[in-house]
Amino acid sequence: MSDDRKAALAKALEQVEERVRRACEAAGRARAEVRMLAVTKTFPASDAALLTDLGLTDLAENRDQEAGTKAAEVAELRPDAAVRWHMVGRLQRNKARSVVRWADEVQSVDSVRLAGALDKAVLAEGRPRLDVLVQASIDGDPARGGCPLPELDELAAYIARTGGLRLRGVMAVAPLGADPGPAFERLAEAAERLRRNHPEATELSAGMSGDLEQAIRHGSTCVRVGTALLGGRGLASLESGSPGSAR
Ligand SMILES: *Cc1c(COP(=O)(O)O)cnc(C)c1O
Repeated sequence: MSDDRKAALAKALEQVEERVRRACEAAGRARAEVRMLAVTKTFPASDAALLTDLGLTDLAENRDQEAGTKAAEVAELRPDAAVRWHMVGRLQRNKARSVVRWADEVQSVDSVRLAGALDKAVLAEGRPRLDVLVQASIDGDPARGGCPLPELDELAAYIARTGGLRLRGVMAVAPLGADPGPAFERLAEAAERLRRNHPEATELSAGMSGDLEQAIRHGSTCVRVGTALLGGRGLASLESGSPGSAR
């Protein structure tokens, strides 16, 4: 059973890897410029463990509670795997303390208040600095999360002044049901503007299963792939686990 699953995951990984490779080639970029996060939300720790066997050790989740449990399970299943856990989902301030216990990076920081809560949590937990990306809203729909582009500079400046957070770049989710190209273009411009004041903020996290080619064309350095690697999540889990839902 696990052998079958491992073979299926290996095949899917090969196909996604080929898409990423071609997209890099088409964009005249080196493959090494783009890292791949496996988004394991709704899938069991056993799948995450198999992905680490296949060499994918950057794993992403979008809900604190599920992720905390899964990270502990994966650590037990694969004590020697050097897994890095990434939080990519909407986050409430009262979860900050819990998130900093399992996450190596939080990509979904979209307000000064949330950044402040994470900074405090890092200091309270006495853990190393937390890598963060600011999540930009590029679909004109603040309900789906993300910091409005005009407020991005202020958020980045705040993070850069904290003792507990390290600003690594910008993340965004493409608009639903529209051509992602123009949105990714606005995102790339925003990321470039941000880098003028924060040269260390080199990451541009964009692109999911359906749009990773366009994202790589627009400079993505980090694609977040769930469905194309692990399969469909089903309707119920899509609703509770989609990037825009309030959980
Ligand atoms: C679920 C999720 C992904 C992965 O989406 P797929 O379409 O399944 O590849 C990427 N980013 C975020 C923020 C997500 O919540």
